[in-house]
Amino acid sequence: MGTGTVLVHLEGIRRVYVSAGETVAALDGIDLTLNEGEVVVMLLGPSGSGKTTLLNVLSAMDSPTEGTYRFRGDIVPSAPDALDVEPFALPRPHPLLSPPLWLVERVVGLVLGVVRWPGRTLAERRRAKALEAQAAFRRANIGYVFQQYNLLGDLTVLENVMLAQEISGGRDRARAKHMLAKVGLEGLEQRFPAELSGGQQQRVAIARSLAKHARLLLGDEPTGNLDSETTQQVMKALLDICRKEGVTAVIVTHDEALTAHATRVLRLDSGRLHSDERGGAGTLVGKGKHVVKDVLDTAEDVVESVRRPVEAAISGGVNTAKALGAVAKDIAEAARPKRKE
Ligand code: ADP
Ligand code: MG
Repeated sequence: MGTGTVLVHLEGIRRVYVSAGETVAALDGIDLTLNEGEVVVMLLGPSGSGKTTLLNVLSAMDSPTEGTYRFRGDIVPSAPDALDVEPFALPRPHPLLSPPLWLVERVVGLVLGVVRWPGRTLAERRRAKALEAQAAFRRANIGYVFQQYNLLGDLTVLENVMLAQEISGGRDRARAKHMLAKVGLEGLEQRFPAELSGGQQQRVAIARSLAKHARLLLGDEPTGNLDSETTQQVMKALLDICRKEGVTAVIVTHDEALTAHATRVLRLDSGRLHSDERGGAGTLVGKGKHVVKDVLDTAEDVVESVRRPVEAAISGGVNTAKALGAVAKDIAEAARPKRKE
């Protein structure tokens, strides 16, 4: 958990797209190292600067054209672009010559097709295998939160989370409920998405993306549809859960205010890393940071474990329980470590 272990290491990453004969370097030489537990905010620079492409490379949805991507030291599988074989066509000097040329074309095309077949089949098989390896990597390691929450409307909140678990290895009801509680949705497990606010739906999506033990959480403007107050709540839920689970997050946003919660702030321009600065959350001060963090976590756990028994014990005395809870929260708050700017 945030121990300074390297999670992501990108070296000389380029991603070049060729469309309509034009070449675009969406990523043009990215070197980047992210440690476990870091919260990285990528600010919306000029559109087309390569942010989405970088997230796609990080999630192995896309493969770099050049460079290496290591995840916990291992090379991440990458797939070549799909083969794009031009159909065979003769130049046409005159429309009258078309019918005979057409016949020649068909014959030559057929012959070439047969000759190229083994090579193509091999390449396609290799690509299919690589795509499968990428999907396995994604299922095991990556959580992705989209601007559209993409929840299934006829499944409950809990079922949405458990379906994602099932797809990536196995249902775990207890963990699904635990993650929902961590994003502040305890008690809403049996609701349907339509019965939740936008902010609540996005929190379900966050819980869902992490419910399968993802190590890296990626978000492409996940709060783009929410007002600024809800954005703050959702981001707080996201950051809390990442901190507690030791998950690294890379979030694209246009909201400068979110840099206050980040450990790193990146800006891209024309496929290059334009700046890489420390965010407002900084890093915990000094050598004692692990101790301080442990104290903080313990204090929060104490609050959590004390709240329920106290509430249950003092039946009817809700106010007393609330007051006790507030005191415990203050203790946790006081234990919060001082941070560098
Ligand atoms: P951002 O998310 O920062 O707005 P993108 O990563 O989406 O930028 O795109 C970076 C550049 O790469 C843009 O110029 C875009 O047009 C180009 N690009 C992205 N995806 C493709 C693609 N699949 N095919 C061709 N060009 C692409
Ligand atoms: Mg984008």
